[in-house]
Amino acid sequence: MMFRTRFAPSPTGYLHLGHAYSACLAHDMAKAQGGEMLLRIEDTDAGRCRPEYETAILEDLRWLGLDWPEPVRRQSEHLASYASALDKLSALGLTYPCRCTRGDIRAALSAPQEGAGTPDIGPDGPVYPGTCRGRSMAEAQPGNAIRLDMGRALALVAGRAPGFTENGPLHAGRHALDPQALLTGTGDVVLARRDIGTAAYHLAVVVDDVDQGITEVVRGVDLFAATPLHVLLQTLLELPTPSYWHHDLIRDENGKRLAKRDDARAIRRYRAEGVSPAELREMVGLPPP
Ligand code: GLU
Repeated sequence: MMFRTRFAPSPTGYLHLGHAYSACLAHDMAKAQGGEMLLRIEDTDAGRCRPEYETAILEDLRWLGLDWPEPVRRQSEHLASYASALDKLSALGLTYPCRCTRGDIRAALSAPQEGAGTPDIGPDGPVYPGTCRGRSMAEAQPGNAIRLDMGRALALVAGRAPGFTENGPLHAGRHALDPQALLTGTGDVVLARRDIGTAAYHLAVVVDDVDQGITEVVRGVDLFAATPLHVLLQTLLELPTPSYWHHDLIRDENGKRLAKRDDARAIRRYRAEGVSPAELREMVGLPPP
């Protein structure tokens, strides 16, 4: 099978040094294996995504010397695929509508409860306390979020021993899913967001990686904790699991990971200052192309 990976930015800002590292690493790995790196624009959040950022992303990546097969996949053009994955999970009885606001969740988590400590932090923030769990999909109202019932999902895959292979140096090896960690550390995640009215990242990424024929997901180690959830969704949807390579993150001089707001480290800023692509690669510790 041909090695195929992807770089999947959201057009919510300019790419910075951390993106340059991730994209070049994925591209280098693909080329070294005679494979390819696909590009995917994660633009389901219409309120935050801007066409000018997408144009800038393509321009910066080309300037870095990267190439990818056309057409570029845009998530906003595949909403029906995400809806159908969500329908499958619902048909399995694994979803419920949630009307909690962020404020409701905060209040539920801070209500004094016997034996309760600090809430666990999952891939999307504090683990959902389960207020709406048990509501039926027939009660879903426009504007509700749709959540995964993690307990039911785990019961359904029990015995199937899902897991994934990590090839990156930070966590290399075979990782079996840990049901307890998923239950208490990840919990009932949102599969469809109330604010954008379509699939949340975790569901979209699983559908996209299969549709794009990705064999190895190369991405930042900040998403390593979300990978068991992605593998669980693949298992529930009877989709293949790719292998993974999570890389370290580029940090600023204070050890903080770079953010999109951090314009000082935007690729286009270095470009404007006359830095060459090879010099930029060197700054993030990559050899010349
Ligand atoms: N869109 C995500 C990001 O910009 C990447 C997700 C992924 O690689 O799975 O962080």
